Amino acid sequence: MLRPIVKHGERVLQTPALPVTQFDESLHTLVDDMLQTMYAAPGIGLAAPQLDIPLRVCVIDLTVGKRGGEVITLVNPVFVERDGMQLEEEGCLSVPGFQATVPRPSRVVVKGQDVHGHEVVVEGTGLLARALQHELDHLDGRLFLDRLRALQRDLIVKKIRKLRRVGKW
Ligand SMILES: [Zn+2]
Repeated sequence: MLRPIVKHGERVLQTPALPVTQFDESLHTLVDDMLQTMYAAPGIGLAAPQLDIPLRVCVIDLTVGKRGGEVITLVNPVFVERDGMQLEEEGCLSVPGFQATVPRPSRVVVKGQDVHGHEVVVEGTGLLARALQHELDHLDGRLFLDRLRALQRDLIVKKIRKLRRVGKW
């Protein structure tokens, strides 16, 4: 089922999400909905808070569903390694129409669980490292805007407020 994606300004996006403790049918349904919604957007990553669900779950697929078997589903993920530095443009389905260059580590290793509660370890470099950090940020109530210099962030937030005032956000 497609679900609406909440946008910048909603409290759920600024609130640390809660750990998943039940690996039940409702978690499977949530992950299915997250994938459908991400592919329809389209996007390469989505975190549960973006669907107004305050749980530590995210999905990533750099192929946007074009190749099978490339979906990464992470429940309760945490970083175990982070190194290097990369500077690339980044956007977010919750901040549509805005992009900015965000500094991020160039390699990360993340440990988490799959939908059944089994441990998974994912290593990513380049775009995958960026996507993992972007989604884990969401689970901590952070948007890519929070990684920008204040001046740059304020400029975007001002434009979003203007859009909201005219009912276009
Ligand atoms: Zn995002």
